[in-house]
Amino acid sequence: MLSTSTIGFPRIGSQRQMKVSLERFWKGGASEKELLDTLNEVENEAWSVQKGIQSVGLDSTLYDHVLDTAFWLGAVPNRFQHLSGLQQYFAMARGAEGKPALDMSKLFDTNYHFLVPELEPDTFPLKPNFELVLSKVQRGQALLGKDAAVPILVGPITFVSLARGSVPAAKSLPQILPVYEKLVQEMGKLGVKSIQIHEPILVTSAGASLKDSFLAAYNTLAAAASRCGIAELNLVTYYDDLEEEVYRWAVQLPVSAVQLDFLGVVGATVSNRNLEWVEKYGWPEGKKLIAGVVDGRSVWADLEGHACWILHRLLTKVSSTSLVVSSSTPLQHLPFSLDNEPAGRVPAALQPRLAFAVQKVAEIVAAATAASGNKQQAAGRHLPLDADYGYGEKDFSRPEPYSARRNKQIAMPPFPTTTIGSFPQTKEVRAARAAFRAGKTTQAEYERAIASHIGMAVGVQEALGLDVLVHGEAERTDMVEFFGQMLEGFHFTFNGWVQSYGSRYVRPPIIVSDVKFLQPMTTIEYKIAQSLTSRPMKGMLTGPVTVLNWSFPRKDISRKAQALQLAGALRQEVAALEATGCRVVQVDEPALREGLPLKTTRHAAYLRWAVDAFRLTTSVASPATQVVTHLCYSDFQDIMQAINEMDADVLTIENSRSGNEMVTALAESGYTRDVGPGVYDVHSPQVPPVDFVKAKIKSFMDSGILAGQPDRLWVNPDCGLKTRAWPETIAALRNMVQAAEECRKEL
Ligand code: GLN
Ligand code: ZN
Repeated sequence: MLSTSTIGFPRIGSQRQMKVSLERFWKGGASEKELLDTLNEVENEAWSVQKGIQSVGLDSTLYDHVLDTAFWLGAVPNRFQHLSGLQQYFAMARGAEGKPALDMSKLFDTNYHFLVPELEPDTFPLKPNFELVLSKVQRGQALLGKDAAVPILVGPITFVSLARGSVPAAKSLPQILPVYEKLVQEMGKLGVKSIQIHEPILVTSAGASLKDSFLAAYNTLAAAASRCGIAELNLVTYYDDLEEEVYRWAVQLPVSAVQLDFLGVVGATVSNRNLEWVEKYGWPEGKKLIAGVVDGRSVWADLEGHACWILHRLLTKVSSTSLVVSSSTPLQHLPFSLDNEPAGRVPAALQPRLAFAVQKVAEIVAAATAASGNKQQAAGRHLPLDADYGYGEKDFSRPEPYSARRNKQIAMPPFPTTTIGSFPQTKEVRAARAAFRAGKTTQAEYERAIASHIGMAVGVQEALGLDVLVHGEAERTDMVEFFGQMLEGFHFTFNGWVQSYGSRYVRPPIIVSDVKFLQPMTTIEYKIAQSLTSRPMKGMLTGPVTVLNWSFPRKDISRKAQALQLAGALRQEVAALEATGCRVVQVDEPALREGLPLKTTRHAAYLRWAVDAFRLTTSVASPATQVVTHLCYSDFQDIMQAINEMDADVLTIENSRSGNEMVTALAESGYTRDVGPGVYDVHSPQVPPVDFVKAKIKSFMDSGILAGQPDRLWVNPDCGLKTRAWPETIAALRNMVQAAEECRKEL
C-alpha cells in the first residue's frame, strides 16, 4: 500500500472547545494551565482521528499558525517586547495596553485570516522562544510515536513574504534562517524523523522570482537537518499548481520530499498542471512525491475515485515506494466532521456526497489502498461544466449609459450623506432573531420586533438628517446566510464551523444544487422602512460573487456558472425591489477582490465573470434606479478596470485607513461615476470629530475627483455599522452629517 500523510486539520476542536476556552481565559475565568489543557485535549482529538496515517502533520494552535511562527522566531514588535509568554502572544493577536494588535490579512486565496508579522529594524535581533513548539512535538510523539509525529513549520520564504515592515526579505532572511536552523536542531534532539516545511508562496506568481532565496534557504535547512539526524525535510506546497519553470527547479531543491497540489481551486475552469509537469519532466530519482489528491478545500466526497486516477497516472513516473498520498491543502478549511451534524439534519441524498475533515482523512487512506491495487479506475479528469444560462448580451448591460441615466435618478444636494447598510446588531436584535429561530416567538411577533428595529434605525437617520437611508439589516445574521436561506440550492450545516481567525469561526453554507429565486427576500423590510420616511430608502442586497466566495461551491459546475446562477436569482430580487417602488438598490460585493486567483495570469478571466455576474444582477434596473455597490478594501489597483466595468452608479468604498489611496487612484484613473469613499473607520468605537470629517471631504475635492460635481461625491462611513453600539454610531453620524452640511455652505 502507498504511504499516507496529512498536512493540517481543523484546530478548533470538534465542539469548538478552543473558542470556549480562549474566551474564558481572556475574561480571566480560566488559568493559563486550563487553556493549555484544552489545547492538549483538542490536539488529542484531532491527532487521534489521524492514527493510521503514516505521517501526521502536527497541526494545532492557540490562535493562528503564522502568529505562532512569529512567536517562536521571536519576531515581536517593539511595542510588545517588554511582555513575555502567553501575555505577549495574545498582545500580538489582540492588542494590549492600548497598543494595536498585528494587522490581519487573508491567507492566500482562502477565507482564513492570519496575523501579519511585522519586520522592523527594532524587531531584530530576534529573541526566539521554542517552548510551545517543542512541547507540542513531544505531545505528538507521545500520542502517535516518533515515526508518525511530524512537526509543521511555516517556511521561511513564505513567512517573510507574508510579513510587512521596512526590513526587506533580503535583510530579514539571513537573520531568520539561523533561528530555523536552531529549531531544527532542537527537534533533532527530540528524535524527530521528518519535518514539513510549508511554502504555499511557491504557487503564486511570486514563485518564479524566489528561486535564489529558496536555494539558499533550503541548502541551509537541509544541512542543519542532516547534522542532527533528521532524515526527511518535506517541502509542502498547496492552494494551486506550480508554474512550469518553478516546477523544474523546485523538485530539485535539497529536500527529501516535495508535496504538490493536484487539485487546486474548487470549481476552477483551468486545469491544475502539476500532473502535466510530472508527466513531461518526470520525477527526480530517490525523492518522494507527496501527492495532494484528496481535496482539502472542498466539502464534496470523491465518489468518482478521482484521487485514485491521479495516483495511477503518477505511478507511471514515480515508484510506489516514493509516492505518498495526502490532501491537496491542509484540512483546516473544512468543518471537523460530518458526524457532528444532528441526526436527520443532512438530507439522506446529500449525506454520502459530503466529506468534512474526518471523512477526508478516511479518503486519503482509501485512495492509498485503492491505488495500490491494480484495479484501473475509470474516472479521469474532467473540468466543471461552464453551463450557459441563455442570457443574451443585453442582459448584461443597463439600457442607458451612466451619462444618460444619471440625471434621471434621485437628485441630491452637494456631498449627499448615507450609510453602508447595517446598524448596530444589539443584544435585543440578536435575541429577537434567536427567539424566532428557536420557535419561542410567532412569525407575527418576530416581524413586529424587526419592524420596531427598522423604525428605530429610520427614526435615527431622519433625526440626524441623512439623505439616503437604510433599513439597518436587523433581520440578517450575516450577509450570505440571510440570502442563502431564502434561495433554493443551499444547505446549511448545524456544526460545520470553520476558523475564520483566532476564536472567530464561521459556518459557510454549501451550494448543493442549482440556485433559484423562490420569492422576494428583502421587499417586506424595504416596504416597512420606506413607509416611515419620505427620503429615499436603499434596497440592500449581497452580490453574487460575495455569496459564492463565502460559500462552499459545487464542483460539478464551474464557479463562474454558479456566480451567474446567483446573479440570475438576485436579478429577480432587484426587479422585485423596483416593483415595490425602490429607486436606490445597493449590491454589496465585499468579497469580489478576495476571489482573485493566486496567479496574476488568471486574474482577467476571473474578473470577467465576476463583473459579468454583477452586471447581470443589476442591469435589470431601469435607468432611473440608482445602482450602488460597496467594496470593503482600500487596496484595489489590480481591479480598477473591473470596478469601472461593473458600471454601478455609485461606488462606496473603504478608504479611511489608507490615507486616501483609494480616492487618489480613482481620480487618476479618471473614474467618472458617483463615489463615496469612507470618511471614518467603523472598526473603532472612536467618534470622528466634525473637523476630521470635513478635512476628509476637502481632501477628496483636492484630489480632483468629480471636480465641479459635489452632488456626486458621497459622504459615508467605511463600511456597515453592525459591530458598533448605538451611542457612538449616533455621535459619529451626527458629526458626519454636520461636516457635510458645513462643506456645502463653504462651496
Ligand atoms: N451592507 C453590509 C453592511 O452594512 C455591507 C457589509 C460589508 O461590506 N462587509 O453590513
Ligand atoms: Zn464593507
